[in-house]
Amino acid sequence: MQPFDIVSTDILILGSGGAGLFAALHAHDADPSLDITVAVKGLLGKCGCTRMVQGGYNVALAEGDSPERHFMDTITGGKWLPDQELAWKLVNTAVERIHELENELGCFFDRNADGTLHQKAFAGQTFDRTVHKGDLTGIEIINRLSEQVWARKIKRLEEHRAIELIPAADGRSIAGIMMIDLRSGKYRLVRAKAVLLATGGGPTMYKFHTPSGDKSCDGLAMALRAGLSLRDMEMVQFHPTGLLAGPDTRMTGTVLEEGLRGAGGYLLNGNHERFMHNVDPRGERATRDVVSRGIYAEMRAGRTTPNGGVYIQMSHLGPDKVRKQFKGMVERCADCGFDLAGGLVEVVPTAHYMMGGVVFKPDCSTEWSGLFAAGEDTGGVHGANRLGGNGVANSTVFGGIAGDTMAQWVQGRRLLDYDAERARQAIEAADRPFSLPAGDLHALRERLADCMWDDAGIVRDKAGLERAAARLETLQDELLEVGVADGNRAYNLTWQDWLNLDSLLHVSKAIVHAALAREDSRGAHFREDYPEVRDLENSWFSVIRMQGGALQLERRPVAFTRVSPGQTILTEEEAST
Ligand SMILES: Cc1cc2nc3c(=O)[nH]c(=O)nc-3n(C[C@H](O)[C@H](O)[C@H](O)COP(=O)(O)OP(=O)(O)OC[C@H]3O[C@@H](n4cnc5c(N)ncnc54)[C@H](O)[C@@H]3O)c2cc1C
Repeated sequence: MQPFDIVSTDILILGSGGAGLFAALHAHDADPSLDITVAVKGLLGKCGCTRMVQGGYNVALAEGDSPERHFMDTITGGKWLPDQELAWKLVNTAVERIHELENELGCFFDRNADGTLHQKAFAGQTFDRTVHKGDLTGIEIINRLSEQVWARKIKRLEEHRAIELIPAADGRSIAGIMMIDLRSGKYRLVRAKAVLLATGGGPTMYKFHTPSGDKSCDGLAMALRAGLSLRDMEMVQFHPTGLLAGPDTRMTGTVLEEGLRGAGGYLLNGNHERFMHNVDPRGERATRDVVSRGIYAEMRAGRTTPNGGVYIQMSHLGPDKVRKQFKGMVERCADCGFDLAGGLVEVVPTAHYMMGGVVFKPDCSTEWSGLFAAGEDTGGVHGANRLGGNGVANSTVFGGIAGDTMAQWVQGRRLLDYDAERARQAIEAADRPFSLPAGDLHALRERLADCMWDDAGIVRDKAGLERAAARLETLQDELLEVGVADGNRAYNLTWQDWLNLDSLLHVSKAIVHAALAREDSRGAHFREDYPEVRDLENSWFSVIRMQGGALQLERRPVAFTRVSPGQTILTEEEAST
């Protein structure tokens, strides 16, 4: 077995997105004497999706808006599947968090002439509540968060990839994380009293996808292998407007933000006709799932642009206004030869976000003692559909809560002895490709991308999902026979690609398994063979666990702790405005 070294810390945070960095700051501020380590696959402040946030941050601040209204939008947008206590926590703590971001961390968001924060329209919301910094909000948030982390005595393990949760002897308490130091290729066990899983999910197994390249669902794959419960895994959100610039650029799939449709942008098919009003009375401002399906229907009908998608048009709003309001988007499109302000840009639905993830409680604890989770690695906050703007609110709200909880939790606790056999198995599994003849990982990856897009994508049915399940088994078998050519482990990107594929295959199987089980259509999950939304009052959510290498699914009833389908917590007056 390859050797590994051991380091220890009180609190280990995996990931440096909004969730990870907020957790680090809150834990440190709660108890500056704690030894806190942020371990991240990339460089702190330079990786993950929070940095890529364009549109903004949902929070009920303006007169006439309220957390209750935000809550109702989140629940109805999520098609009554969200965990209502998690959603409640989200909408209420977002108010505190946005003030923290501005007043304690130094973020500058756009303002109205009267000095109040400017809040823009996002689809599926009854109020304009999306706080932003132009259309590059994530860079503002992550830069300020990173500066604050750098300014404190918080340790960093950059270019460190977590590969396995290592339990204590009881198998249900965290003892540490096995990692690879990407710079040397050496294994390192980081022992910790508390660990936060904040690796940010990210459906990069689809042909068109938006998340950052460092994300390959590692956290979810680790959780699955550890036997933890994952919920709502069938719920994969497609953003309707991914840039479509042909197959030869990685810019294809990257997102053109929702604010474009919110501001009044039109979608046109290849015949230059608007089509969204034939699908939904809200037209282009319908929720993401509806718009993605509307576009996909045009694609299936062959009414497409040269690259096979549809167009977005903004020019009717006035090119100068568009250039001013959506500077980042205009520049991104220009880089790919499109004129967003004055012309037409080709777009395609693109896999954006996973509503599903690790089952967790409002205090961010999980089934394992000492293991906490926050951000996109978790499930339950958004149910069947995430509202645009609720993603970064989710990661910062629950990241902060996780930091507070962990700082308290570690008091008086000691490091647990780790299960040496599990540590050995983790290294053996990750090291496997070095003992095999090299193969074509790229081709495997392409086949995975096609499989998920064709058979487990925007529109699903039983036959397609069963085909996907079989194709995934074949791909997994093939991956286990493919090695990497270069025995040098330092910065061995082929090896990292192998590990990425392994994670993506694990999580793809969970998506397909859950999608087969849900025989109705809800939010992002649309079954062509079961197109109706059924039986809201008896809603259940899927919970998947891996046991003995096989996936097991359980249907758990949704607890309508605050409001039941068809009802509202708003007053009559609020509901009517
Ligand atoms: C292009 C784009 C635009 C978006 N726009 C918006 C928006 O306008 N509004 C909104 O609300 N949401 C938006 N989102 C969603 C939002 O970015 C996410 O919901 C949220 O930021 C996720 O935060 P996180 O901390 O959970 O994960 P991330 O910010 O993705 O961070 C994950 C971290 O984990 C690290 N990591 C991954 N694997 C490992 C591993 N094995 N070991 C160690 N570290 C690991 C990564 O390197 C990264 O640092 C957007 C997403 C994208 C991709």
